[in-house]
Amino acid sequence: MPSYDPNNIFAKILRGELPCYKVYEDDKVLAFLDIMPRSPGHTLVLPKAPARNILDIGADHLTHVVATAQKVAKAAMKAFSADGITIHQFNEGAGGQVVFHLHVHVIPRKAGVTMKPPASEKEKPDVLAEHAKKLAAAIEAA
Ligand code: 5GP
Repeated sequence: MPSYDPNNIFAKILRGELPCYKVYEDDKVLAFLDIMPRSPGHTLVLPKAPARNILDIGADHLTHVVATAQKVAKAAMKAFSADGITIHQFNEGAGGQVVFHLHVHVIPRKAGVTMKPPASEKEKPDVLAEHAKKLAAAIEAA
């Protein structure tokens, strides 16, 4: 497996070199909206530790990422009046991974509504800003 590349796009977001629509942050994780959401509220949860994917992350960091994904999922059920949550996590190109800093997708779902294809459409900035605010408030209130 190739080594971690510190110039990947999520590493730049983690360093504050690129912007994001943040929904949650603590000392070990950052969660922000996917700019090409597969459904409203589609969130990515990342460890701050430099891990390429599930194959090279330390178990303690992974545990905190998963606990944060659960926190985001519970808040997203309320914030987006969701009926369910889809969790995706891809590893290496063959596993569907495109950005090589570990991330867990948390995707709120409505009954009977199909997800958009991956990376199909960039959401409008004002919509992302509103969704991030709504989800961050639900996480804060939990
Ligand atoms: P994966 O590596 O899990 O297959 O997919 C990477 C995800 O990152 C995709 O869902 C894509 O829409 C999202 N993405 C790609 N570039 C950016 C970006 O610059 N900002 C954000 N917030 N999401 C991105």
